[in-house]
Amino acid sequence: MNPEKYYFITTFGCQMNEHDSEVISAILESTGYCKTLTPEDADLIIINTCAVRKKPEDKVSSLLGKYSDLKAVKKDLLIAVGGCMTQQEEIAQYIKERFHHVDLIFGTHALPHLPRLLAEAGRKKETVVDIEEYYSKRDNLPVLQSKPFQAWLPVIYGCNNYCSYCVVPFVRGRERSRKFEEIITEAQSLAEKGYVEITLLGQNVNSYGHDLETKHTFADLLAELNKTKGLERIRFLTSHPKDLSSKLIETVSRGDKICEHFHLPVQSGSNSILDKMNRRYSREQYLNLVRDIKNKIPGVSITSDIIVGFPGETEDNFLETIDLLQQVRFDNAFTFIYSPRRKTAAENLKDNLSRSQKESRLQRLNKIQHDISKEINSHLNNKIVEVLVEGPSKTNPKVQTGRTRTNKPVHFTGSVDLAGKLLKIKITDARTWDLFGNPEGDTI
Ligand code: SAH
Ligand code: SF4
Repeated sequence: MNPEKYYFITTFGCQMNEHDSEVISAILESTGYCKTLTPEDADLIIINTCAVRKKPEDKVSSLLGKYSDLKAVKKDLLIAVGGCMTQQEEIAQYIKERFHHVDLIFGTHALPHLPRLLAEAGRKKETVVDIEEYYSKRDNLPVLQSKPFQAWLPVIYGCNNYCSYCVVPFVRGRERSRKFEEIITEAQSLAEKGYVEITLLGQNVNSYGHDLETKHTFADLLAELNKTKGLERIRFLTSHPKDLSSKLIETVSRGDKICEHFHLPVQSGSNSILDKMNRRYSREQYLNLVRDIKNKIPGVSITSDIIVGFPGETEDNFLETIDLLQQVRFDNAFTFIYSPRRKTAAENLKDNLSRSQKESRLQRLNKIQHDISKEINSHLNNKIVEVLVEGPSKTNPKVQTGRTRTNKPVHFTGSVDLAGKLLKIKITDARTWDLFGNPEGDTI
């Protein structure tokens, strides 16, 4: 143990990647490292990367350039790059050749081996690379949750869907469901430690269990977790529309702890584009699903992901996406310009649009979605909502921030010690993204 060693970690990407960084932090702290928030003070810098679009990849390259200066003044500084981006062989090779100051390159499967790999990297002059596809559910790895009342809980790793644009199946491997009892026990132990909210994670939580002998479904898992004493909220992401069962909708509508929020990426409103994306549902099926969810769960919020500029997307195809947006009325949507990814089926499809055409579609889509979000939120004015307080806002310590059960951010004036508490807040100013209000009475 050497308590004077510090590590700095920076993370790109989705919640699963954030969670991986919590695991990496716990592993490092169990070997004597302490966390620092300033890279200049670190003895070890870890960049945990994302590969879903090109932008984060570019950011990683520029960060690596910056950290080479630090290494020039601190010779024994270790620099490690891991995650989805480096799980790809060509990228790992590129980083090794281009950035000689990187000591360790590791993939998404190598987490359990980090202590050994770091020791090796400390000894060797050349870059150590481990992007082996170990078959692992990583069940026994420690986690260092970043908040004492909210925890991420992976239920299924990997993805089998091979949407034609997506790199995830190549960098996260095949679907591996964690054992039912193990998840239940972990949730109980989190609740006993004082955690009030858990978020179940998976690329497609709806396919949970198909690879287990016990054949438990995701709906079974949610129903069982809903019995956990002490837990107040259960969230889950992401739901693939093709696998969302009516039993699941029923379970969410009945479970008092299960939050009324579905993140249900549609990607496109055009059947021909959905087909080319290999999403395996039609716009009609999607619209029926949304109708079903809204009918059975009053007050539910539905959010989505949408890609514009997929190869071959015509103006008519795009207008179908806008039409779907207007029919569904999402509470919020994350919108992206299509970014070609290595090895994916769509990688070599012919691009029919210029960058500015794609940007213009993105802006048109965003404008419509913003108006919808604002209109939906305006109905919350003067209403009382339940908020789990997360802590002070980044810009003003007197303002506390939390989320409704429907996952909308709420801001109010209050003291820092409210973090982790459930409050009733009366909304006074509902905007496009955020709600502002005042506490009503004591904590719940
Ligand atoms: N497993 C989740 C999402 C994983 S990636 C799901 O299936 O919904 C998160 C989002 O990034 C996707 O929903 C998609 O909208 C977007 N995305 C993935 N690959 C992309 C690409 N090549 N270009 C642009 N956006 C992409
Ligand atoms: Fe990617 Fe599709 Fe799997 Fe989601 S379901 S991770 S978009 S391949």
